Amino acid sequence: MKKLPPVIKNQEFDTEIIDLTYQGMGVAKVDGYPLFIENALPGEKVSIRVMKVSKNFGFAKVLAFRNESPDRVETKGSAYTQTGIAPLQHLAYPAQLKFKQAQVQELLKKAHLDIEVSDAIGMEDPFHYRNKAQVPVREIAGELKTGFFKKNSHDFIAIEDFLIQDEEIDKAIVAVRDVLQRFHVEAYDERAHKGIIRHIMVRRGHYSKQMMVVLVTRSKKLPMFTEITAAIREALPDVTTIVQNTNSEKTNVILGRENKVLFGPGYIEDQLNGLTFRISPHSFYQINPVQTEKLYAAAFERAGLTGNETVIDAYSGIGTISLSMAKHARQIYGVELVSEAVKDAKENAKINDIDNVRFETGMAENWMENWSHANLRPDVLVVDPPRKGLEPAFIESTLKMQPKKVVYISCNPSTLVRDIEGFMSDGYKVTKPILPVDQFPQTTHIETVTILEK
Ligand code: SAH
Repeated sequence: MKKLPPVIKNQEFDTEIIDLTYQGMGVAKVDGYPLFIENALPGEKVSIRVMKVSKNFGFAKVLAFRNESPDRVETKGSAYTQTGIAPLQHLAYPAQLKFKQAQVQELLKKAHLDIEVSDAIGMEDPFHYRNKAQVPVREIAGELKTGFFKKNSHDFIAIEDFLIQDEEIDKAIVAVRDVLQRFHVEAYDERAHKGIIRHIMVRRGHYSKQMMVVLVTRSKKLPMFTEITAAIREALPDVTTIVQNTNSEKTNVILGRENKVLFGPGYIEDQLNGLTFRISPHSFYQINPVQTEKLYAAAFERAGLTGNETVIDAYSGIGTISLSMAKHARQIYGVELVSEAVKDAKENAKINDIDNVRFETGMAENWMENWSHANLRPDVLVVDPPRKGLEPAFIESTLKMQPKKVVYISCNPSTLVRDIEGFMSDGYKVTKPILPVDQFPQTTHIETVTILEK
């Protein structure tokens, strides 16, 4: 007989939270049936109401707390949980770091891998760290608002303090919004696919203080753009470049392909570990500069370069890792998919007077194959892939090249564990504890450095 869920919608009862999911949701169980509950921590006894019931799990919300976890801290506002900006804001920061370490440990355990995980390196001040913001603009009651969408919904919440962004960026977004309002620029309307301004993107150099404003518009049309540019410069004297980006697609992707520079050079520069980097609108740049320096320092130390090595830096972005390693290696090869980022990387080599680095544009998996055919035999391979991790073809090429050491920087522990298994099947071993470096405080995201050696 088909088993029905043991709860029904709107049912209210008391229960205890027994776990915290990877998404930061509290878990309670009724006869083994899990209920996911926002803003609830393990050990807390709560009164709940069931909000949604599906076959294998349901969602509930807290009506009252009977007791509170010692790890609970006061939240800064429900909008940060509702939007997913800060899903862990109710958890004390030291406990967030433990939670992240434990997640990596659990994933390894599930895969039957006996690998140590170090304590996560955290931030002294785990707020207002992001050097980049991409904020949607919508019209509410005839006014332009900037904010965020509720999780899994199109409901828009107006927000001015984003809690985890550089406060100068928060201020800039409000100032740009007000300029656009003044010039009667219409907000984008998703449903009708009408209106003009879709997103405001701002990037700010942590050291350089240079600021880039990108206005993402639905079409190339931006009436009064000269006056708007002048007004933004007047309101924000620290802005060093303004770009209009056109995105005419019906899509969740924020940036379209085309950029038009309205003011300044079209990029900003920032420093990282003493080197200068040019960053263009489409280029990836680590969003937490304070933690990135710690992350890279840990990766370099573990790479153990002596000055004689050939290194491949796959997924090289604007060349931050390649160029920081260049002084300590013989030759570096980088590969990156986004051509604008590769252009930045080549320029960055020049800016920093580095000539033992070559950057290629394309898919890392294809270039690994090319290099392997060309008999390139790197001593050290550095990988820093996006969340989906490495393609099987990438690992195959690596195994042909047999680098002595692989430095794996990962932003997704589940694909990391899968890829570690891929390397281990060919005799690689994890030779140092996996190191989590918290790049994303208040969120559930985890960054790690792993060292594999033959
Ligand atoms: N190492 C850099 C960038 C890491 S982010 C840094 O620390 O700043 C990952 C990068 O991989 C992004 O720049 C993204 O554009 C690029 N990328 C994504 N898929 C790729 C692929 N299949 N081949 C090569 N690069 C890819």
